[in-house]
Amino acid sequence: MMNQVHKTTMKTVFDINNLVRPTIKALKPYSSARDEFQGNSNAMVFLDANENPFENGVNRYPDPQQGGVKTLLSEIKKINAKNILLGNGSDEVLDLIFRAFCEPNKDNIIILPPTYGMYSVLANINAIDIKEVQLSDNYQPKVETILNTIDSNSKILFLCSPNNPTGNSFSGQSVEELLNKFKGIVVIDEAYIDFSKENSWIDRLEEFPNLVVTQTLSKAYGMAGIRLGICYASTEIISVLNSIKPPYNVNELTQQKAIQQLSIKDLAINQINDILKERTNLISELESVNFISKVHPSDANFVLVKVDDATKRYDQLIDKGIVIRNRTTQPGCENCLRLTVGTKEENKILIKALKGL
Ligand SMILES: *Cc1c(COP(=O)(O)O)cnc(C)c1O
Repeated sequence: MMNQVHKTTMKTVFDINNLVRPTIKALKPYSSARDEFQGNSNAMVFLDANENPFENGVNRYPDPQQGGVKTLLSEIKKINAKNILLGNGSDEVLDLIFRAFCEPNKDNIIILPPTYGMYSVLANINAIDIKEVQLSDNYQPKVETILNTIDSNSKILFLCSPNNPTGNSFSGQSVEELLNKFKGIVVIDEAYIDFSKENSWIDRLEEFPNLVVTQTLSKAYGMAGIRLGICYASTEIISVLNSIKPPYNVNELTQQKAIQQLSIKDLAINQINDILKERTNLISELESVNFISKVHPSDANFVLVKVDDATKRYDQLIDKGIVIRNRTTQPGCENCLRLTVGTKEENKILIKALKGL
């Protein structure tokens, strides 16, 4: 009984402030003109930000808190806007997380190769050590090994699910165990969640105060060109990240385009459904290509396949004008190619080319 009570208390006293870098805790954020006054812009005369007063659609600074985009995302994802932070692509969001929690030349992060390359690039830029625990043969996290690798300077564990480049989602049980046992920040990168049959972890934010979920408009939402990355976390974590983000990190054109596209009812859902149908077709066609020895199951909009000689097949496809990704140098991905699911026509071109090699 005593034990039970103690355990519950331990969980509720998790304090994010113990993880934030001292420099960041002491920081006084830059307060922009538009931060200080947000009003009904139609009725106001704005002479506070030294802008050019002649209207052209972009002569004013953008909303530093991206209210319009957040309202739409909060409806679509069924989450409070206070739990959302937006950035210039996921890359900026991930960089903010590094700068909030990882002390250069002291702290480390844990990554699980083969995985998305940006975690280690950002760690290197920020002078943060990288501890790698390779995924198992079926590309799942090795929970015990991960827990044994963690030390007192381990601040962030990156879980990419569905994982790039393998395409699979991580076991919910493993993720939950890691969230419970790792006392640092667990970032779940859900860039491909909208293609997955699994639920997003954003539904579980209240249960896990150390959980940060990242998503993006670059994949399922069809807006890679506008650079808009999303972070969902507790209000405590969001306010730390807000205190270090550049004031106008999401530009006006990006905000306008995101609002326009996200407002079109069922657009993303319909496109995702089309892509999933095409994924099924593509997988069955790939299975009949004679030099493909394995088509990995996919919970994303790409498929990882094992071939006889990845570099040779990659070069042959380039010669036919088809660009795919050669992942053969990644741990656990020897002779593997990553193929994005395209339109019906594009997939036909790919299959025809593969069958003609
Ligand atoms: C494509 C991708 C992203 C998206 O990055 P953006 O900067 O938002 O375009 C993030 N994580 C993973 C794993 C990806 O594959």
